[in-house]
Amino acid sequence: MKTRISFKATAPLKIPCPICKGNCCEVCKFKGKISVEVDGTTQVSIDDIVKYVVENMHEVAELVTKKYGRTPQIGTEEVIQQDEGTYEIVKISSLGGVTWVVHRVDKLSPPLYFNDYQKLIKWKGGQIE
Ligand SMILES: [Zn+2]
Repeated sequence: MKTRISFKATAPLKIPCPICKGNCCEVCKFKGKISVEVDGTTQVSIDDIVKYVVENMHEVAELVTKKYGRTPQIGTEEVIQQDEGTYEIVKISSLGGVTWVVHRVDKLSPPLYFNDYQKLIKWKGGQIE
Protein backbone atom coordinates (compact mmCIF):
# COMPACT_ATOMS: atom_id res chain seq x y z
CA MET A 1 0.00 0.00 0.00
CA LYS A 2 1.16 3.49 -0.82
CA THR A 3 2.17 5.54 2.20
CA ARG A 4 2.21 8.94 0.50
CA ILE A 5 0.04 10.69 -2.07
CA SER A 6 0.95 13.55 -4.38
CA PHE A 7 -1.22 16.64 -4.11
CA LYS A 8 -1.15 19.86 -6.07
CA ALA A 9 0.97 22.34 -4.14
CA THR A 10 -0.96 25.53 -3.51
CA ALA A 11 1.08 27.56 -1.05
CA PRO A 12 4.26 29.55 -1.63
CA LEU A 13 7.26 27.45 -0.73
CA LYS A 14 10.05 28.83 1.46
CA ILE A 15 13.48 27.66 0.34
CA PRO A 16 16.99 28.55 1.45
CA CYS A 17 18.18 31.57 -0.50
CA PRO A 18 20.01 30.25 -3.59
CA ILE A 19 22.25 33.36 -3.74
CA CYS A 20 23.70 33.27 -0.23
CA LYS A 21 22.84 29.63 0.57
CA GLY A 22 20.95 30.74 3.68
CA ASN A 23 23.69 33.01 5.02
CA CYS A 24 21.57 36.16 4.46
CA CYS A 25 22.03 38.73 1.72
CA GLU A 26 20.15 41.63 0.08
CA VAL A 27 18.25 39.30 -2.26
CA CYS A 28 16.62 37.43 0.66
CA LYS A 29 16.34 40.64 2.69
CA PHE A 30 18.72 39.10 5.21
CA LYS A 31 16.33 36.29 6.12
CA GLY A 32 18.31 33.47 4.55
CA LYS A 33 15.15 32.18 2.86
CA ILE A 34 13.04 33.27 -0.06
CA SER A 35 9.43 32.48 -0.94
CA VAL A 36 8.73 30.98 -4.35
CA GLU A 37 5.43 30.18 -6.05
CA VAL A 38 5.37 26.50 -6.91
CA ASP A 39 3.54 24.86 -9.76
CA GLY A 40 3.92 21.23 -8.88
CA THR A 41 2.99 18.60 -6.40
CA THR A 42 3.78 17.91 -2.81
CA GLN A 43 3.85 14.59 -1.00
CA VAL A 44 1.46 14.03 1.90
CA SER A 45 1.49 11.00 4.18
CA ILE A 46 -1.67 8.86 3.99
CA ASP A 47 -1.57 8.57 7.79
CA ASP A 48 -1.84 12.38 8.00
CA ILE A 49 -4.78 12.36 5.57
CA VAL A 50 -6.64 9.70 7.55
CA LYS A 51 -5.89 11.53 10.82
CA TYR A 52 -7.25 14.75 9.31
CA VAL A 53 -10.42 13.02 8.06
CA VAL A 54 -11.06 11.33 11.42
CA GLU A 55 -10.47 14.55 13.37
CA ASN A 56 -12.68 16.59 11.00
CA MET A 57 -15.35 14.00 10.20
CA HIS A 58 -18.34 16.36 10.25
CA GLU A 59 -16.74 18.92 7.94
CA VAL A 60 -15.37 16.25 5.58
CA ALA A 61 -18.73 14.45 5.43
CA GLU A 62 -20.50 17.72 4.62
CA LEU A 63 -18.00 18.48 1.83
CA VAL A 64 -18.40 14.96 0.41
CA THR A 65 -22.15 15.51 0.19
CA LYS A 66 -21.93 19.07 -1.16
CA LYS A 67 -19.14 18.51 -3.70
CA TYR A 68 -19.76 14.94 -4.80
CA GLY A 69 -23.40 14.36 -3.90
CA ARG A 70 -22.47 11.34 -1.83
CA THR A 71 -24.60 10.43 1.15
CA PRO A 72 -24.51 7.55 3.62
CA GLN A 73 -25.60 4.28 2.06
CA ILE A 74 -28.83 2.99 3.58
CA GLY A 75 -30.35 -0.38 2.84
CA THR A 76 -32.05 -3.42 4.25
CA GLU A 77 -29.41 -5.90 5.35
CA GLU A 78 -31.87 -8.65 6.21
CA VAL A 79 -35.31 -9.44 7.57
CA ILE A 80 -35.31 -11.95 10.41
CA GLN A 81 -37.72 -13.76 12.71
CA GLN A 82 -36.83 -13.07 16.33
CA ASP A 83 -38.84 -13.82 19.48
CA GLU A 84 -42.04 -14.32 17.45
CA GLY A 85 -41.57 -10.98 15.73
CA THR A 86 -40.39 -9.98 12.27
CA TYR A 87 -37.57 -7.45 12.20
CA GLU A 88 -35.91 -5.54 9.39
CA ILE A 89 -32.24 -4.76 9.99
CA VAL A 90 -31.33 -1.57 8.15
CA LYS A 91 -27.64 -0.83 7.68
CA ILE A 92 -26.47 2.79 7.43
CA SER A 93 -22.88 3.07 6.15
CA SER A 94 -20.91 6.27 5.94
CA LEU A 95 -17.38 7.54 6.12
CA GLY A 96 -17.79 7.74 9.88
CA GLY A 97 -18.77 4.11 10.31
CA VAL A 98 -21.81 1.87 10.31
CA THR A 99 -25.04 1.95 12.32
CA TRP A 100 -27.77 -0.65 12.24
CA VAL A 101 -31.38 0.30 12.87
CA VAL A 102 -33.61 -2.63 13.73
CA HIS A 103 -37.34 -2.16 13.55
CA ARG A 104 -40.21 -4.50 13.91
CA VAL A 105 -42.30 -4.80 10.76
CA ASP A 106 -45.23 -6.91 12.03
CA LYS A 107 -46.11 -4.68 14.99
CA LEU A 108 -45.64 -1.07 16.06
CA SER A 109 -42.55 -0.95 18.28
CA PRO A 110 -39.73 1.53 18.97
CA PRO A 111 -36.64 0.93 16.78
CA LEU A 112 -33.37 -0.36 18.17
CA TYR A 113 -30.05 1.26 17.26
CA PHE A 114 -26.72 -0.58 17.17
CA ASN A 115 -23.39 1.16 16.65
CA ASP A 116 -21.57 -1.92 17.84
CA TYR A 117 -21.66 -4.94 15.51
CA GLN A 118 -21.00 -7.37 18.37
CA LYS A 119 -24.05 -6.03 20.24
CA LEU A 120 -26.18 -6.51 17.11
CA ILE A 121 -24.96 -10.11 16.82
CA LYS A 122 -25.68 -10.63 20.53
CA TRP A 123 -29.23 -9.23 20.08
CA LYS A 124 -29.73 -11.63 17.18
CA GLY A 125 -28.96 -14.46 19.57
CA GLY A 126 -25.42 -14.97 18.41
CA GLN A 127 -26.48 -16.08 14.94
CA ILE A 128 -23.58 -16.13 12.52
CA GLU A 129 -24.58 -14.52 9.25
ZN1 LIG B 1 20.26 35.47 0.56
